[in-house]
Amino acid sequence: MTDDRTAPDRNAPDCTAPDGGLPDSHRPDPGPAPDPAARLDVLTRRLDEACRRAGREPGSVKLVAVSKYHPRELVAAALDAGQRDFAESRVQEARAKWPPLRARYPDVRLHLVGALQTKKAAAAVTGFDVLHSVDRPRLAAALAAAMARTGRRPDCFVQVNTADEPHKSGVPLEAADALLKECRDVYGLPVVGLMCLPPYGRDPRPHFRLLRSLAAAHGLSQLSMGMSADFEAAVAEGATLVRVGRALFGPRPRRAGGPPDARAGGPPATR
Ligand SMILES: *Cc1c(COP(=O)(O)O)cnc(C)c1O
Repeated sequence: MTDDRTAPDRNAPDCTAPDGGLPDSHRPDPGPAPDPAARLDVLTRRLDEACRRAGREPGSVKLVAVSKYHPRELVAAALDAGQRDFAESRVQEARAKWPPLRARYPDVRLHLVGALQTKKAAAAVTGFDVLHSVDRPRLAAALAAAMARTGRRPDCFVQVNTADEPHKSGVPLEAADALLKECRDVYGLPVVGLMCLPPYGRDPRPHFRLLRSLAAAHGLSQLSMGMSADFEAAVAEGATLVRVGRALFGPRPRRAGGPPDARAGGPPATR
């Protein structure tokens, strides 16, 4: 990635030791896959440190491991290391990947981040424990119907497009109050907080602050904000849950037919 939010990170997963210009046949093996257990350790320490700096209780911010596009074996290593909250960005991928893992680790909590198509609302309600991307009335209605049918009530975050970026998921700022009211009063959704994904390559703090004040105005206690490049800033601004992918699992593998790492949480969904 040529993203200055990701470059200067001493824990960056992409660093490889210089190989001294050896010919290919003498190059060391690329080495083992990233070790999620060691990275989990480092991340937990950084998270605790960020809490202390912000005068918050260490351990008070939930770390959600974003495992999208990564193979099951890598996820299993994080599970073995004790991680229990994971996020995927696509319903089908989660359906293919998670059933065997859930069977082995029944206390897993699976989060959905990234755009959610209305027609997949029912699958999202059955397959996930937390939904981070509720962002429009039609989706709220479909989720409410699926919850009524199945009796499952995953925690919901309303995603806010804090910079009003076109083509980005999230309810526009000026529509957020109305959507929140509708989610609660009309659809009775279990809304626990707000989520945002600040614009790429800019200071995320104003967006974190905006999300925090909006949540406070609505009496919502949870804030899903902060990723690999900015989770420490998010903790300073009040995040209760950070969504970290690359800093834990390394760069995401390329997928057929798509970019390796779509910033908005996957390809734009057709609604
Ligand atoms: C992929 C993704 C993340 C994780 O991003 P990293 O930069 O890998 O930490 C967090 N939130 C959302 C919504 C995502 O789509």
